[in-house]
Amino acid sequence: MTCLIWFRNDLRLHDHQPLVEAIAPGQPIIGLYCFDPRQFGHTSFGFPKTGAYRARFLLDSVADLRRSFQALGSDLVVRTGHPETVIPQLVQDLGIEAVYWHQEVTQEEVAVEQALTRALANLGCQTRRYWGATLYHPEDLPFAIAQLPAVFTQFRKQVERHSQVAAPLPAPSQLPPLPTIDPGPLPQLADWGLSEPVADQRAVLLFEGGETAGLQRLHHYVWEADCLKTYKQTRNGMVGANYSSKLSAWLALGCLSPRQVYETVQHYEQERVQNDSTYWLVFELLWRDYFRFVCAQHGDRVFYPSGLRGLNIAWKQDWPRFDAWRQGRTGFPLVDANMRELAQTGFMSNRGRQNVASFLTKNLGIDWRMGAEWFESQLVDYDVCSNYGNWNYTAGVGNDARGFRYFNIPKQAKDYDPDGTYVKHWLPELRQVPAAKVHTPWQLLPVEQKRFQVQIGVDYPQPIVDLAKSVKTNEATYNAALDHQ
Ligand SMILES: Cc1cc2nc3c(=O)[nH]c(=O)nc-3n(C[C@H](O)[C@H](O)[C@H](O)COP(=O)(O)OP(=O)(O)OC[C@H]3O[C@@H](n4cnc5c(N)ncnc54)[C@H](O)[C@@H]3O)c2cc1C
Repeated sequence: MTCLIWFRNDLRLHDHQPLVEAIAPGQPIIGLYCFDPRQFGHTSFGFPKTGAYRARFLLDSVADLRRSFQALGSDLVVRTGHPETVIPQLVQDLGIEAVYWHQEVTQEEVAVEQALTRALANLGCQTRRYWGATLYHPEDLPFAIAQLPAVFTQFRKQVERHSQVAAPLPAPSQLPPLPTIDPGPLPQLADWGLSEPVADQRAVLLFEGGETAGLQRLHHYVWEADCLKTYKQTRNGMVGANYSSKLSAWLALGCLSPRQVYETVQHYEQERVQNDSTYWLVFELLWRDYFRFVCAQHGDRVFYPSGLRGLNIAWKQDWPRFDAWRQGRTGFPLVDANMRELAQTGFMSNRGRQNVASFLTKNLGIDWRMGAEWFESQLVDYDVCSNYGNWNYTAGVGNDARGFRYFNIPKQAKDYDPDGTYVKHWLPELRQVPAAKVHTPWQLLPVEQKRFQVQIGVDYPQPIVDLAKSVKTNEATYNAALDHQ
């Protein structure tokens, strides 16, 4: 019996249950990655669904997986097309009797799985779906997904008390040879109308896709740079490679399994140190788990304007202001530096993401889905559950939203970038401005503007909104929505 393993957001050999189970009986296997053209279309607000940074990361990840298959005596088959058409065709042409894959939980991905399952059932082909993207397996949770606690802390406490993280499965040491089939070429960025992204030397990291690079990054961050022991103190940083783990892109495409990261943390705790920081990395991975389970529980509600909470806020779709936000021209250096970093590298720190998302929704009152789709387009680490889940929370439409909460941008700037190092890194026009005024450059007197070689309104924009007034207005809009709920 020949078994096909359909690779999706699980581009790795380690901790891969479908692969392990497929090779166990010694049967021929075919590993397939199928580039789905729908993933390279446009979002509902018209942005490229997969921007150049993530597309490059994905191509490199698939290329790396192919090299790993080849090194173990097989090859990875690559096709372009709709999986629900491509896979049944391969099944017919090659007499494949079973197809295994890791399941997803969100609308578009589930629709493809369902169409594929139907097509394969018509061909009498066996199918098996596996769960492989979280630390905790749903079967090991102390509650059914339908009964998932609506508050993260309750979820965390219950799983920490009652559940175990299973050990990651080892990568196979060899693979059966690929049956006679053309492995097929890897596509190019140009096939999707994308240009090669230009590496910006100011980037926190030059993210290289693939399991090999992901395992190297994990090893470097934890063992070589020895940063895990201070993660909790540094994780709110914004400059440099090691203030946080930077594992998100590899986790999002499944080049790294979260259980592999967890096991590494455990080894580190045994061999070096166990402290608040080592715990906190796992704590953050629990957020990642939580958003995936939330999406599994709530179907496509996470994509509704009213979000998981079902709150009908009168959002604006103000394109001129949205464009200022996404291009980093709002006149608020903390927001602008982060938005320019995103546009020029495909990455933004967690601190930055929280601030810019709060600014868009709580100061500009703009439809959170425009922001979420822009992130989807730009982020190298885009993960549908983490992205839409976090946007729901920041916009105040998440399922445990607690009233109108917002980030106070000047306070955040003072707390997290007191000497302006970060904003100067991304806003060269403000480099001469002293730290005391770099976050409020509109307060510079004309004589200071001359001295610091910046003209506010010309070189750097005036603020597009009054922070205090806008928060009040948007709070009133939010409360009006609550009254009508
Ligand atoms: C509006 C918004 C959108 C976001 N979109 C994404 C996204 O598309 N993909 C994504 O992976 N993360 C997203 N995040 C979460 C978080 O910002 C990133 O995971 C983190 O910045 C990645 O950097 P890191 O790997 O160095 O994180 P670390 O601080 O080193 O954390 C370790 C890992 O924990 C997970 N993690 C950390 N924080 C969160 C969180 N708040 N929610 C879910 N998982 C978390 C990530 O997998 C991360 O790699 C978003 C956050 C916000 C506020």
